[in-house]
Amino acid sequence: DGCEGCVARPCIFNCPTQAISRVDGKAFIDKSKCINCGTCAKVCPYNAIQKKTIPCIDACPVDAISKDADGASVIDFDKCIYCGKCMLSCPFGAILMPSQVISVTHKLTEGKRPVIAMLAPAVMGMYDGTVKQLGQALKQLGFSDVVEVAAGADVTSLMEAEEWIEHIVIQKDPLMTTSCCPAFYHAVHKHAPKLSKFVSHSGSPMHYTAEIVRRNHPDCYTVFIGPCVAKRAEGLRRPNVDYVLTAEELLCMIQAKGIEMKKLPDEDASTSRLGSREGVYYCVKEGVAQAVLASVPRSLERLKQNDGRHIDHLVTHISQLDSAKLEEGTMTSEPPTPDGATHEKAAVPDGITTAAVKPVFISPLDKKGVKMLQAYGEKPEKAPGNLIECMVCDGGCINGPGGIVRAQMGKA
Ligand code: SF4
Repeated sequence: DGCEGCVARPCIFNCPTQAISRVDGKAFIDKSKCINCGTCAKVCPYNAIQKKTIPCIDACPVDAISKDADGASVIDFDKCIYCGKCMLSCPFGAILMPSQVISVTHKLTEGKRPVIAMLAPAVMGMYDGTVKQLGQALKQLGFSDVVEVAAGADVTSLMEAEEWIEHIVIQKDPLMTTSCCPAFYHAVHKHAPKLSKFVSHSGSPMHYTAEIVRRNHPDCYTVFIGPCVAKRAEGLRRPNVDYVLTAEELLCMIQAKGIEMKKLPDEDASTSRLGSREGVYYCVKEGVAQAVLASVPRSLERLKQNDGRHIDHLVTHISQLDSAKLEEGTMTSEPPTPDGATHEKAAVPDGITTAAVKPVFISPLDKKGVKMLQAYGEKPEKAPGNLIECMVCDGGCINGPGGIVRAQMGKA
């Protein structure tokens, strides 16, 4: 459009597929050869070429979206990793995941059994109110109690630290990867299967938090609330997780009930802070690897005393901590400071130090990141570290697709 037939012909010379030629002095694009890479649009001095983008197809890191014969986008679920990037990219909100809001609302209004909210650390700063006010809002919605998922994250850290010792120190494997991001888990199993044997088998923070909650309230319903759509797919596989809501869905429930969070008392609502500082920082890039790293000395000590490897020990330990804190009824209104950490310091035995842990961080997981995972699967000894942390969302869960950005956009 507006091609001046310029002498330099940068579009013709730069096209990687030779899709452009000149017809009557003007550039002509052969659509059968064009791969829509946008190179010609970048080099045209007259802005006469526009890259035709389809946001959801461009956003998908694993090429799981294509066009059907009618021109509509279709998702190939054999490739999809449930990362939600397509949902975020669509300007029309046309990509949705089935919601469990109605089911949760029924359980809350029925009032037959306790409904416990499990709050992921990533959502705590997303609302227009303090964490205490968020706890009050959850109580007004009918939740019996609120538990921080950071508690379960602490169990994951200990388990993964033990696994890391087993993989790297004992079995001399070249690397291990964390596994708490379910979209990463799907990415490995569907797109880099040779890496699968190095993925941690430890449960996720959501899973262990639900275990802790069930020990105190065996007859309850557990509802995980986080910014993640992949967690819903994970929740369906976990018998101890009944429902998964996104932060955005919770905001809709709060708004639908007419609750004005800012006007609620800034007081604890029988909520508890259970997790350590490291558990809270699971929500940001590098947080998981740092938590595993911080747990290595303690795990070494546990393995040395031969009381490790059994999840029962860990969950019981944290469950006791849970009961004690529940009685106190405390919940931090701000992200905890380093002084708030509940990790005990253990002596590092046998000369192995945390310096042996060499983390590699991948976030966001884009097409290039998927290629890196495939390369690590082919040649794990070439990976630049021995603990790979991959958070599919850019910067970690705080930028998850189930955050409340879209709801705020809708209000605007
Ligand atoms: Fe979900 Fe967090 Fe992974 Fe994003 S980075 S897909 S929010 S677990």
